[in-house]
Amino acid sequence: MKYYSTRDKSVRLDGAEAVKQGLSRDGGLLTPETIPQIDEAFLRGLASASYQERAAKVMGLFLTDYTEDELRTFAQNAYGPDKFDHPAAAPLRKVNENTDCLELWHGPTSAFKDMALQMLPQLLSAALRKTGEDKTACILVATSGDTGKAAMEGFADVPQTKIMVFYPKDGVSAVQEAQMVTQEGQNVGVCAVRGNFDDAQAGVKRIFSDVELREVLADRGYFLSSANSINWGRILPQVVYYVSAYCDLLRDGRLQYGKKINVCVPTGNFGNILAAYYAKRMGVPLGRLICASNKNDVLTHFLGTGSYVRNRPFYTTMSPSMDILVSSNLERLIFDLSGEDDAEVRRCMELLNKAGEYEVSPAVKAALKDLFWGGSCGEAETSATIARYYKDYGYLIDTHTAVAANVMEQYRQESGDQTLTVFASTASPYKFCDHVLRAIGETPRGCGTDLLDQLHTVTGATIPSRLAALKGKTRRFDQTAEKAEMERVVQAFLQ
Ligand SMILES: *Cc1c(COP(=O)(O)O)cnc(C)c1O
Repeated sequence: MKYYSTRDKSVRLDGAEAVKQGLSRDGGLLTPETIPQIDEAFLRGLASASYQERAAKVMGLFLTDYTEDELRTFAQNAYGPDKFDHPAAAPLRKVNENTDCLELWHGPTSAFKDMALQMLPQLLSAALRKTGEDKTACILVATSGDTGKAAMEGFADVPQTKIMVFYPKDGVSAVQEAQMVTQEGQNVGVCAVRGNFDDAQAGVKRIFSDVELREVLADRGYFLSSANSINWGRILPQVVYYVSAYCDLLRDGRLQYGKKINVCVPTGNFGNILAAYYAKRMGVPLGRLICASNKNDVLTHFLGTGSYVRNRPFYTTMSPSMDILVSSNLERLIFDLSGEDDAEVRRCMELLNKAGEYEVSPAVKAALKDLFWGGSCGEAETSATIARYYKDYGYLIDTHTAVAANVMEQYRQESGDQTLTVFASTASPYKFCDHVLRAIGETPRGCGTDLLDQLHTVTGATIPSRLAALKGKTRRFDQTAEKAEMERVVQAFLQ
């Protein structure tokens, strides 16, 4: 299977090369040239399999230049009991007769990013081997909280890699900061940046496009790489859990084969819901894909109108991982829905760059309407949804998951569609203790990791063991830089 660029179909790369490059040189996203098709026998075969086996089988359909043995080993390493606190890795929790929650936060950092970032470093490591690369990959990450920690946890002490994470000094939760500055591993670096997430991200982009720096680093034996969700190696492991959720429902007799389920995903960069789209394209019987946004509703507007309008107010919300104005992975969807029309993608992306907005063709608009439904949820509704789930179902959910639960209800009310729906839970409520406490009517007492205990005392919900262990950990990183100093930080890190 080859991968081509959404902006130039003449680019043709093997899977390993696509994982290593991350982004195509023309700025496009690397995308499989065909979507493998699965059938009833395939899904039934996986119904009795472990999550690890499911992952190896599904990923093997796309990564044909990796051996089955390799992928099986990677999946064992990624999703085993030393990493995940649930044997099913991504279990379904039944909420009521027609609602299930897909819990994606049982990994080492308690956010769904682990599902991909426990896998990507292994795919990359093998890719370096397969492509005969002798330089060390240096992963640069700008994070609004979850990605940085999950990437470090995945890359810590992986040979031939180093990772440097920048986070906005006052832009992450106390638990998220504690997670990052206590990270272990000889090849990791962490630095706070004075400014917001966009400043950190702009700094990283600047470093990536700095040709001189690139040459200096190459002389020292490094090349820069990204663990952002534009990398195919992050999307593919996410396709697995949608296949897996359907298999679980089959296995448990909740579903006849062929019956469709809807999926609802709390969305930021459009990576997670794009993975659901690929699962549907492969032949998993998925119905409506419900795209949930917080107050930053650029995607709701896009799915409703076919117009992407980036120039709009930016809101900081209690679901920060969804505070985003440009959802990069949408480019892959437009490519696919336009019949793989790279010229059409170039047209849209150029307009986005120049004018800050674009409109898709009538055919793509119609396809979007058919497949997706977009909705958004404000701050008060997010809190109210956390409170309601806790009261009605005894189920504590985080702020991002609550956005999904709320938008799922909006969809049901508007459409009358009562199909069994799986909504994705993307973080443990313990990552956002203060908002979750307030939502269920408590006053947060103390700060930082103290709130873990308070939330536990009030609700009795189990604290993920790695979060509980944060309190005893030593702070390893204390560096704060101005945004203009980020390059210097990278230079020093790669001495
Ligand atoms: C990253 C993240 C999201 C958004 O996922 P995308 O793939 O960017 O759409 C939602 N919730 C949480 C908790 C996240 O960390």
